[in-house]
Amino acid sequence: MLSGTEYVRPSTMDEASGLLANDEGAVVLAGGTDVLVAAFAGRMSVSTLVDVSSLPELKGVEDWGDCVWIGALTTMTKLCASDVVNRVLPGLGSAAAAMGCWQVRNRATIGGNLCNASPSAEMGPPLLVYEAAVDLDGVGGKRRLPISEFFKGPGETALAKGELVTGIRIPKPDAGLRVAYVRRALRRSMDIPLVNVAVGVQMGDGVGVDARVALGAVAPVPFRVPVAEEILVGRPLTDSVIQEAAEGACCPARPITDVRATAEYRLAMVEVLVRRALIQLAEESV
Ligand SMILES: Cc1cc2nc3c(=O)[nH]c(=O)nc-3n(C[C@H](O)[C@H](O)[C@H](O)COP(=O)(O)OP(=O)(O)OC[C@H]3O[C@@H](n4cnc5c(N)ncnc54)[C@H](O)[C@@H]3O)c2cc1C
Repeated sequence: MLSGTEYVRPSTMDEASGLLANDEGAVVLAGGTDVLVAAFAGRMSVSTLVDVSSLPELKGVEDWGDCVWIGALTTMTKLCASDVVNRVLPGLGSAAAAMGCWQVRNRATIGGNLCNASPSAEMGPPLLVYEAAVDLDGVGGKRRLPISEFFKGPGETALAKGELVTGIRIPKPDAGLRVAYVRRALRRSMDIPLVNVAVGVQMGDGVGVDARVALGAVAPVPFRVPVAEEILVGRPLTDSVIQEAAEGACCPARPITDVRATAEYRLAMVEVLVRRALIQLAEESV
């Protein structure tokens, strides 16, 4: 065990947020696949692990008519198995299925993936494409933020002290919006993405009427790419339009070189993956 670290399992939101607000070293424990790895490796100092697994406010996947609500404690395995996710948000299910390996997916939660705030977080690009909002609750009360305002930098979020993510709220997309999720990693499983991409396109009368492109792992936070989206709207999904959009998507990317890949390789992969996602969507639409 982690010597000197307390473990508590609050049964109410007030208790959980109070513990987090009043103890500088208190950390939320959800699935533990990031936090326990970091703590055991000595990369994170933790005075108290606040296990939130007993809080009912963080659980469930619900169809609320105009939106889908996903509790922060929902694991990747549960997302993959959810009827409502597969029916309404298939791009999110694809991203959940791509994460880690089945042992990790059984533990890893959507809330933990967002709060860990890795630039390559699997859930970032699909939630940006689905225009999700994050529900927060804490000592200062409840609030809601668009996902685009939640990520602040590597490992940094908009969470205030004593605040928890309770769930993710996703407006139901128009039935015509098709979403593809693609990623590039060094291995087929058990590896975080070098680059990950979600693309959504809705066609009408042969041209794009809505286009959404989001990138992960090529900037401090995942982000949408309006320049590529504008190229796709009002035009057919032809080879030349796809190529133009894929090249356009590279403009705002600012990847870094690290032990896993060079910046140049990541940039080249943005073009490849956006093109691949758009080809997939074009083939599905015929
Ligand atoms: C072998 C392995 C493979 C992996 N592969 C991938 C991969 O392919 N893609 C990928 O994106 N990630 C991957 N990861 C990282 C990790 O599994 C995910 O980020 C996962 O979703 C984290 O969820 P968790 O529930 O385990 O979070 P935890 O480790 O419990 O928590 C992560 C962080 O979020 C905070 N937190 C958790 N829940 C909340 C909440 N509700 N409110 C406020 N703060 C909260 C915690 O305090 C902590 O700072 C991998 C990890 C391992 C060990």
